[in-house]
Amino acid sequence: MRNADRRTVIAGLGAGLALAAGNACAAPRGRKIGYAIVGLGSYAELIMSKFAECEQSRLVALVSGTPDKLKRFGEKYGIPESHRYSYQTFDRIRDNPDIDVVYVILPNSMHAEYTVRAAQAGKHVMCEKPMAVSAAECRTMIEACRKAGRKLMIGYRSRFEPYNRLAIDLAKKGFVGPTQIITADHGFNARPNQWRLDRALSGGGSLMDIGIYSLNAVRYLTGEEPVEVSAVESTDRNDPRFRTVEDRISFLMRFPSGIETTCVSSYSSNHNMYRVTGTEGWIQLEPATSYEGQKMWIRRDGRTEERQVPAGKGQHAGQLDHLAECIRNDTKPLVGGEEGLADMRLIEAIYRSAREGRRISLT
Ligand code: NAD
Repeated sequence: MRNADRRTVIAGLGAGLALAAGNACAAPRGRKIGYAIVGLGSYAELIMSKFAECEQSRLVALVSGTPDKLKRFGEKYGIPESHRYSYQTFDRIRDNPDIDVVYVILPNSMHAEYTVRAAQAGKHVMCEKPMAVSAAECRTMIEACRKAGRKLMIGYRSRFEPYNRLAIDLAKKGFVGPTQIITADHGFNARPNQWRLDRALSGGGSLMDIGIYSLNAVRYLTGEEPVEVSAVESTDRNDPRFRTVEDRISFLMRFPSGIETTCVSSYSSNHNMYRVTGTEGWIQLEPATSYEGQKMWIRRDGRTEERQVPAGKGQHAGQLDHLAECIRNDTKPLVGGEEGLADMRLIEAIYRSAREGRRISLT
């Protein structure tokens, strides 16, 4: 545990959730926390289906620019017309007391605007990853929610996934000895003609979208913040998918305790794994951060064994109910705006390192 002792554990792990000041955000008791979903794309469709597993959260309103979607999902989930909004009528959510939280599931460049507007309408916010397209936008979002006295949480669902939680716990305890190295690879083969490949909407390529899972994982597995980053980008600019965004970017980070992490982010190869290597063995998850189907192997004492974790509440319902609990109890979300900002600051440093071809010090 010698290295672990020196680590700053990411705020909120386990029972140590810090209490937020005041009680201005408490929602009415006796009913579930009401969510409005903004942006009815593919991930929103999955999220809408997950309210059925929630104990403390319910879907109460929809926001979309497409009337057909409002009708289709409105009818499917029993959302009355009075609770269906367009982007133009969005600000009227202020007058709807059934809505406690706005869940922003729009293209990345729209996260900041809708978070700020939701906070100004007096609502708490759940915002998808990446939190925004720049650290400056993240700061604006945090400030808007602080000023409005509302919670802000980022959709880092893996923190509510049992295998990832166990991996964090085992790494923290030094189960395979103090962590020395972490490798984390995330990527998929991006289909052409989508907003993710348009920098104006995505803010960047694979790193913003999928590499952020590698980045966030090494932060939650070490419980530390990196002190140095170096990155190399590899993009075929003749591939029409990559006119404005990067394909592959590999980055190496050094942490205060001496841990080194090597991460791959890619839009042209398919992987989803991480391995935490300690002095006595390793812990591997593959897939690590998918919606389901996580598998874990542990190598220790010269033997490799698969470890199974009882299926608990799903990560999506866990994430939705966590914010509901934070609102109910006026506590700080495990993955608040500061967590999204920390990743975005690193994303900016990774891009800078790749662009300038040098190591970037973060101290
Ligand atoms: P998507 O393309 O399926 O949906 C985007 C939605 O935004 C669509 O309903 C679209 O109509 C709407 N939209 C509004 N204005 C738009 C514009 N100008 N251009 C394009 N679309 C516009 O995308 P998605 O996969 O649902 O991703 C949405 C967000 O959710 C992204 O921030 C993404 O990173 C995040 N996401 C998170 C996870 C996760 O596991 N946490 C998974 C997938 C996506």
